[in-house]
Amino acid sequence: MSQQQDTRPEPAGAEDAEFVVDTEDCEAREQAHRERGTARPITVVGNPVLHRECRDVTEFGEELAALVDDMFASQRAAEGVGLAANQIGVDLKVFVYDCPDDDGVRHVGVVCNPVPVELPAERRRLDDSGEGCLSVPGAYSELARPDYAEVTGQDVHGAPIRVRGTGYFARCLQHETDHLYGRLYIDRLSKRERKDVLKQMAESTPRYETVPNP
Ligand SMILES: [Zn+2]
Repeated sequence: MSQQQDTRPEPAGAEDAEFVVDTEDCEAREQAHRERGTARPITVVGNPVLHRECRDVTEFGEELAALVDDMFASQRAAEGVGLAANQIGVDLKVFVYDCPDDDGVRHVGVVCNPVPVELPAERRRLDDSGEGCLSVPGAYSELARPDYAEVTGQDVHGAPIRVRGTGYFARCLQHETDHLYGRLYIDRLSKRERKDVLKQMAESTPRYETVPNP
């Protein structure tokens, strides 16, 4: 994602929020979520819920907590490193992640109402590694994105948070935030690359359950 994201006002307090610690007790936290949750099938490119901006999360109660549990279960079942709510058909701005960074350190967490933080140009070093998406099964493409990213948002209780990541995790934070604004990584590819990715997808069989397109 070398292009700029939409800029929206940050939630109150988010600019002062501390960076979350998302590297502790990863295994136990991720397991607890997924054991409470149920894996749901994954929506794929062409499903309208993936191609429009999701609604803001405004209720931080039991229903949201249950959704997050289902998202962790779905992410694990599909062997993903990040999952946005609209990838299980839910129109709400929330994503979960379980992703290693540049140093191989695992990060596990949840972000509601994410807003990308604009970073100074000197922090925008591009990394052109490969990228894939559970909603574009069986396909990969190189895509240049900044190798460091920060997002502000809220945790599952509504408290302001700030998350930062390097390398693959930076890519994940950008990719998942994009999802919630209705943007897939293939929307950032050239026409030719996009065509190639869709061909790869057409020629493969997903390893997990998907939602048939309407
Ligand atoms: Zn994706």
